[in-house]
Amino acid sequence: MIPASAGLLNKRSVTTSLTGPTTLVAQVSGISAFITHGELAGITAALILAKDSNNSIAVLHTDSLYCIRTIREGLAQSDPGAMANIRQYNGHSFYRWINNILHHKSTDIQHVKAHTEDTSLPSLPNSEADHYATSAQKLVHRIPSFPIPTFHMDEFTPYSSSHGWTESNLRVYTETVMLEKSLHELRNNVRMAKWLYEPRPPSKFPYTRAYSAYSAAIQLHARSGQLAVADTLFSRGKIDEPYCRFGCRALEDPHHLFVECKRYTEWRVETSKEIENRTRRKLTEKGFEETSQTSLLKTAKSLFINDKDIWPLQYSFYYLGHIPKLDSLLPYSPTMTPIAREQLLHHLAADWHTHIIRLAGRIFGDYQREMAKRLTSNHKPR
Ligand SMILES: [Zn+2]
Repeated sequence: MIPASAGLLNKRSVTTSLTGPTTLVAQVSGISAFITHGELAGITAALILAKDSNNSIAVLHTDSLYCIRTIREGLAQSDPGAMANIRQYNGHSFYRWINNILHHKSTDIQHVKAHTEDTSLPSLPNSEADHYATSAQKLVHRIPSFPIPTFHMDEFTPYSSSHGWTESNLRVYTETVMLEKSLHELRNNVRMAKWLYEPRPPSKFPYTRAYSAYSAAIQLHARSGQLAVADTLFSRGKIDEPYCRFGCRALEDPHHLFVECKRYTEWRVETSKEIENRTRRKLTEKGFEETSQTSLLKTAKSLFINDKDIWPLQYSFYYLGHIPKLDSLLPYSPTMTPIAREQLLHHLAADWHTHIIRLAGRIFGDYQREMAKRLTSNHKPR
């Protein structure tokens, strides 16, 4: 298998080979194949091709001790059709096929150590088979595919066009696929584009108190796209319509609720004014004249508005805990040391951050209370 360390969803190529009176090289594709599938395909092909001669049973050598043990375990079962214990193994359709052949044709399967200097008769062709399988990787597009034993699969076996048949643990497989899917969505989603915003870490204080722990939960849910607003609930079949439940003619997604919904306009204006006033006070205190305060104050005013001059993606994403980068907004003052400047920026960033997460908490708290009220009074969503 190349690459040898490939994971469940990684692209990989598995080849198999056998040698003896006949040599065969094939690739195992169309099934979520691992090294074991290569081993099993080789054993299956060898069993089919093996011929008894001079009244002696054909002997098959393989270096896969694991496969031999599992095959013997399967043979020991009284009901070879069911092979219940085999079901847990990846590639169990191959095991069933092998078991079926062995019930019609007795062949002696023996273990041979791999990669040794041993020059005994079983070891030499084993190294040779290894060599064929490895060399075949270079021509993998030209060698035939080994047939997939769908006829020995469970009655229901998952199949996907990208990964083929999957016989491994379904729970692990599903988790891996879903994890991959979520990662893909998050990567392609602006929610995680943290580098576009102010990089100074917010102070821990507003997060460690009970009230604001709620703000952290909102941020976590909003950033992972799990906030229970109408849009999310609708996409999961929980409610009939994805529109704003406060009467706006708009889709109720987190952006609408936190930035646009008319129910919270007053709170946004209020918080924005407070941040603006606090920023002005701080800047004046530090000796900045009115003209050099303009950029910062303009930004403070636009924190809750979709302003393309302020927000890197045009839209306000304050509810994700983001604020625009501050460095370029504060003019350099000849009387201010770099440390004092950094302290001031740090102070402003922390202050703004605390206010925006508080507003997000206030809005979502109100929203949740309102929705709970409607639920208890059997008020149907609009
Ligand atoms: Zn609304």
